[in-house]
Amino acid sequence: MSDIIRLDNLTVTYERHPAVHHISGGFAAGSLTAIAGPNGAGKSTLLKAIVGELRPAEGSIDRGALTRNDFGYLPQVSDIVRRFPISVADTVMLGTWKNAGAFGQFSREDAERAREALGIVGLSGFEKRHIGSLSAGQFQRVLFARLLLQDARVILLDEPFTAIDQRTTRDLLDLVLQWNGEGRTVIAVLHDFEQVRSYFPETLLIARELVGWGKTQDIMSPGNLIEARAMAEHWDEEAETCLPEEEHDEGGLVKRELCE
Ligand code: ADP
Ligand code: MG
Repeated sequence: MSDIIRLDNLTVTYERHPAVHHISGGFAAGSLTAIAGPNGAGKSTLLKAIVGELRPAEGSIDRGALTRNDFGYLPQVSDIVRRFPISVADTVMLGTWKNAGAFGQFSREDAERAREALGIVGLSGFEKRHIGSLSAGQFQRVLFARLLLQDARVILLDEPFTAIDQRTTRDLLDLVLQWNGEGRTVIAVLHDFEQVRSYFPETLLIARELVGWGKTQDIMSPGNLIEARAMAEHWDEEAETCLPEEEHDEGGLVKRELCE
């Protein structure tokens, strides 16, 4: 299988502090990959870089012929604001924005597709409900319905089942498997190791730096998990990137290497 996305020595920083450090490897087309690692390991940062929300400070991401519209991205719950006065149906139809255009209107067809998608995630009849009135599980179902409408080739999910009831988790996991069965590439950040082992054939384990990337049974070994935890605990939050910094002094422009 060829890679649909390749990371080459990828480093992503926040104000020069690396959150993801020197990661290389590839996601095979049509693969189903879990991203695992301790809190603060750079998992969310990595997803944001893959969808293009954050730029690499060093290295690169090769997305081949994929464009922004080929990506369906579900951010971590804490990044989603649910106070907008917007209905369930409108939230789902936002998944069709690429058809509607920036100032376009939702068509009757969009509304019909939104209704169908809500049926698939078990929310028939919820169209007019305000999203603020939904339980966490119901809201996550709405966001999955939106992903259904997006019809993306690559789907990125950031902790999609955190604080979600078991029934909803099972239903949405089934959808993830169905998407993958349709040939879509799915990458999901997960903190539940049992879920990773049961459903995800590939795993990328990170603690800022790559601990392992490959078959889940090989990567999620006790040794690797201990190493990931130790790496996260010993990471220096204050460390700066080693990228050369351009500086001007009397002699003109000089490049200064950091982190000697
Ligand atoms: P994870 O998703 O694995 O818990 P994150 O990617 O959210 O990890 O964060 C990795 C590191 O980057 C953490 O140290 C976090 O504090 C830092 N970080 C994340 N987002 C920002 C931000 N917007 N600004 C500054 N630092 C951030
Ligand atoms: Mg995160």
